[in-house]
Amino acid sequence: MSFNTILDLVLRSNFSSDSSNESLQSGKLQFIDYMINHISNLIFVADQNNRFVYVNDSVVRKYNYSREELLDMTISDIDIHFDASTFNDTFWKEFADKKTLQFHSIHKAKDWTLYPVLIHAHYVEYEDQVYNFGVIEDESYIQKLLDTQDGFVILTDGTKLIMANKKMLNFFGYPDLLTFISQHKCICEFFIEEKGFLVNRPSWIDESVKAHHEDAKAKIKNPATGKDNIFLVRASPFDKNRFVVTFTDITQAENYKSKLEHLAITDGMTSLFNRRYFNKILPREINRTKRNNTQLAFIMLDVDFFKLYNDTYGHLRGDDVLISIASTIQKHFNRASDFCFRLGGEEFGIICTVNAINEVYQQAEQLRIGIEDLHIEHRHNNVSNYITASIGIAIFDRFGTAETLYSQADAELYKAKESGRNKVCMKHIKTI
Ligand code: GH3
Ligand code: MG
Ligand code: MG
Repeated sequence: MSFNTILDLVLRSNFSSDSSNESLQSGKLQFIDYMINHISNLIFVADQNNRFVYVNDSVVRKYNYSREELLDMTISDIDIHFDASTFNDTFWKEFADKKTLQFHSIHKAKDWTLYPVLIHAHYVEYEDQVYNFGVIEDESYIQKLLDTQDGFVILTDGTKLIMANKKMLNFFGYPDLLTFISQHKCICEFFIEEKGFLVNRPSWIDESVKAHHEDAKAKIKNPATGKDNIFLVRASPFDKNRFVVTFTDITQAENYKSKLEHLAITDGMTSLFNRRYFNKILPREINRTKRNNTQLAFIMLDVDFFKLYNDTYGHLRGDDVLISIASTIQKHFNRASDFCFRLGGEEFGIICTVNAINEVYQQAEQLRIGIEDLHIEHRHNNVSNYITASIGIAIFDRFGTAETLYSQADAELYKAKESGRNKVCMKHIKTI
């Protein structure tokens, strides 16, 4: 197409409502004005088969192809998001109605340089043919801005990926944007479905932007380490039809937080749960027992003649005994539903779900034997040559409370002590 033909074509479609000479003249002025204002923009005309029939010098320079090469190409050769199948009759009808459409996309030059672009497509009818008259705006500057930001950034148009900064690419180990986009169409594909974390919901961005949702957390597998990283994901509107989605890696902070949480509920010496956690867990487990109509046991254990042990062997050796007893307790009560605590001093507690009452008793009895079988010498223990412990068990009944359960176990422990120590006592179970 010659420049004059293009000029005519443009004037008829965009700058003039009729084809009278006068209006064409004023249209020419407008067009020149338009050209000057878009001198750095890239201009093309494509026919109904998306084949370029005109490209300006800027296009030639930008994409590194010769004009001849470009005129032998279609839009899909340079636009990596362009889907020719959607440019069907329906599209052209819509295009005819709206006259101007805008697309965000990525263009690929001959040397594979990628440009984030905004395309203003104008519908043009000329000599019984329809054309797509396009002005391309290079938006690489946005990419540069994003590269200076801390945190991962992706721009999406709906859910379509159109930009990702270096940090994002580096994290996933993608060499370039093209590989990245060819493997992920939507950012939701990154998210690992897990309770408490952002799930695979394509509508999340829309919802988040519209409803100003709280920031979501996403767990994403790091391909380099194979480990999950935790990200704070925020979506915010960038302009009319794009979102900026930032990914801030909070793995370290989250790990630190869970370490602190762990420390807060753990007894430093024995690594069992502490009393604070016991106070939290007991009511929770009682409620669960009521809901599920199951049974719950609370076991209390106290070391026999421990004051005498300390007096004889020293406090440090006493500490070692407590550590050994704690690990013996954990060995005997190691199901996911068992909770072992150091309630304080040389007193321990176990909360466990009951299958059969007799079974709990047997388990506690095995623990008692297990402690004596550690063969920790205790020459002032009246009932054995070794360290022993006394155990009291209470079973939760539906009408009880945390307090009654605790005092019942305490009473059974007292009975175990009174009846000679190194014993397990449990209401309803006859002990010798
Ligand atoms: P009983 O058989 O009646 O339980 O006798 P006992 O001596 O174990 O009972 P008592 O409650 O009089 O003594 C508990 C002792 O446990 C007192 C204290 O010195 C010791 N103890 C408490 N906490 C610790 C600890 O963290 N480390 C050590 N080494 N000893 C502790
Ligand atoms: Mg005690
Ligand atoms: Mg004791």
